[in-house]
Amino acid sequence: MPTKRVRAAIVGGGIGGLSAANALLIRGIDVTVFEQVDTLREVGTGVSIFPNGRRQLERMGLKDALAQVGAKVGDGSEYYRMDGTVVGPILTTDSSGWNGVYGMHRADLSRVLAEALPGTTILTAHRCVGFEQNAHVAQVKFANGMTAEADVVIGADGIQSALQKYVVQPSSPEYSGSRAYRGLIPSTKLPEWRKEAHQTWMGDGKHFMVYPVRSGQLLNYVGFVPTSDETVESWSAIGDRDELAASFEGWDPRVVGLLEKVDTCFWWGLYDRQPLASWTNGRLALLGDAAHAMLPHLGQGANQAIEDGVALAVFLEGQTSGEIVDALQRYEVFRRERTDIVQAEARKNGLRYDSRYKSLEERDKEIASSAEFRKWLYDYDVEKAAMSYLSRV
Ligand SMILES: Cc1cc2nc3c(=O)[nH]c(=O)nc-3n(C[C@H](O)[C@H](O)[C@H](O)COP(=O)(O)OP(=O)(O)OC[C@H]3O[C@@H](n4cnc5c(N)ncnc54)[C@H](O)[C@@H]3O)c2cc1C
Repeated sequence: MPTKRVRAAIVGGGIGGLSAANALLIRGIDVTVFEQVDTLREVGTGVSIFPNGRRQLERMGLKDALAQVGAKVGDGSEYYRMDGTVVGPILTTDSSGWNGVYGMHRADLSRVLAEALPGTTILTAHRCVGFEQNAHVAQVKFANGMTAEADVVIGADGIQSALQKYVVQPSSPEYSGSRAYRGLIPSTKLPEWRKEAHQTWMGDGKHFMVYPVRSGQLLNYVGFVPTSDETVESWSAIGDRDELAASFEGWDPRVVGLLEKVDTCFWWGLYDRQPLASWTNGRLALLGDAAHAMLPHLGQGANQAIEDGVALAVFLEGQTSGEIVDALQRYEVFRRERTDIVQAEARKNGLRYDSRYKSLEERDKEIASSAEFRKWLYDYDVEKAAMSYLSRV
């Protein structure tokens, strides 16, 4: 008798949930994505997709779709001190020399991931409010009164995850003391700007970065500024453009000049978490920010979420419903080895970028040698690593 296909319910249609949906479908698992908002959209601004994430997305068959909207990031990518003194190059390749970095508008990436799924995969207006399970099945409850049954439930519902409390004791995210002002500027407003460059300026307690998105039509900027008041974590929070410009007064004229072109910006309070005690409980597994919320100072939150989805798919492929609990435990053990490190390193890198150092020379040296760590990040092939892990356990 043929084995019954495993049914997965993914809660959350962000980059993590949609990537996981693609990866699971490819490996023969039935998937439904339940997303709380009425219309699927990734508002906000840019996201860097690095070789470790892009390699997996391309293997899902998304190479051409990504190439249409991604902005190549390469030439002229540099770190600077706040006055514009060059600190060193920013690595934009893996060790093989593959230039696998795209600057992407979040909405473009979200659309590419969603359009690759069959039409009935995503159910919007489904806010998860409860979870139950027994030895045979799991059940998710939604605010609209619906319930869904599945063999496996994946909590891809972000840093404020509703499902996290079914795995670990509830806790609040930790505030970093920093706020990110973010926005987009049409590239035509800055014709002299280096087209493919990811550029980062590092000052006292602050840093500023710029990279292209949407095939280079837009420049994505982020200004990281310290603040004592905990700011909301919301794309819709409109930032004060004058306050943003004042925060970077006296910096490299390129930064000051760019900020003069800003019409509107958004702000976003920066939070992360210490690694959770666990990511899984029976048939429920967490993924992405729900599992390992991290600061954005390595640009890896979304990339790690993509890796999570691929690893889950490798571990769930060919499993029967009765084998899911073991498969999820393997997923957790396998993934944590990497994400615990990335979470901690993202915090450390924030200190470098914010010049929280006794001497800037020491900081600059660490930045120069960070290329080794970046290679460790970028060279990684989660699919191959998960398959190799499986062959050993
Ligand atoms: C300033 C900044 C810059 C960043 N830059 C980068 C970068 O360059 N590269 C990178 O890799 N990462 C970056 N990140 C991190 C990255 O944005 C996140 O790690 C990533 O978006 C997490 O994806 P996710 O799918 O896990 O969660 P989310 O993107 O938060 O998605 C969660 C989804 O779940 C839905 N949801 C929530 N609750 C429920 C519920 N109860 N029921 C149903 N649905 C629900 C939400 O509506 C949302 O659609 C950055 C973050 C910040 C703040």
